[in-house]
Amino acid sequence: MNPLSLAVPSVLTAVGAFAYGAVHPRAQLFGSTICRTNSARKLALTFDDGPNPSITPKLLDLLNRYNAKATFFLIGQYVRECPELVQEVAARGHVVGNHTETHPNLFRRSLREIRIELRLCHDAISNALGSPPKWFRPPFGLRNPWVIPAARELGYRTVMWTLLPGDWKEKPVEWLIPRMQPITDHAQRNLVVNSSSNARGQGDVLCLHDGAHRQLNGDRSRTLAALEYWLPRWRDLGLEFVTIGQAVSTPAS
Ligand SMILES: [Zn+2]
Repeated sequence: MNPLSLAVPSVLTAVGAFAYGAVHPRAQLFGSTICRTNSARKLALTFDDGPNPSITPKLLDLLNRYNAKATFFLIGQYVRECPELVQEVAARGHVVGNHTETHPNLFRRSLREIRIELRLCHDAISNALGSPPKWFRPPFGLRNPWVIPAARELGYRTVMWTLLPGDWKEKPVEWLIPRMQPITDHAQRNLVVNSSSNARGQGDVLCLHDGAHRQLNGDRSRTLAALEYWLPRWRDLGLEFVTIGQAVSTPAS
């Protein structure tokens, strides 16, 4: 028998598993991550790639209207440009996390380079807020075997998501709104049907973007518009909008 006929499939399986571990938001192959909240009643809203002076203040006002707390994964070089905005985010009760210094694809980076990216953003946020963040999200959600261990060295827990609607795409809000429908479907299935008893199962972590990693003042007005549509509906379904810390704290409510 040609040994290649045995070797090739196993190599392909290994490549497939590696790609899964690197890309899939709920893969745990390269280290444990948080992907869900601990109660179907809790929805963790998360926003990446800020701070963004043209969008984040409006988003903070919108979240206030619904008594919503959220988590912001920030890019270090933008934190240095607008530390007051980062302070405002924290002062309003939201949680701030590390999203690296320059938003590289960490899958292609060495351990040394990953450590530098994490450390620079860690220092930027620590300087702005006076205390270090505890949560990390890799840019593009991409990991190699060194990313999560490097984050752990700085005391971080790594946060992924259950839903990534693609709000960075150049599409109208009429495209974006239905992409967020799964949150409603889960809530209707787990809360409304079971309203007489406790909420069933775990809840969603929604990944949206108030910033754009290529520029400081990216247009994320469609993200705001989609949230203006959904937040009152999700509130009326009984969802609570929580930070990632509240999402995994016990007891689940
Ligand atoms: Zn990002």
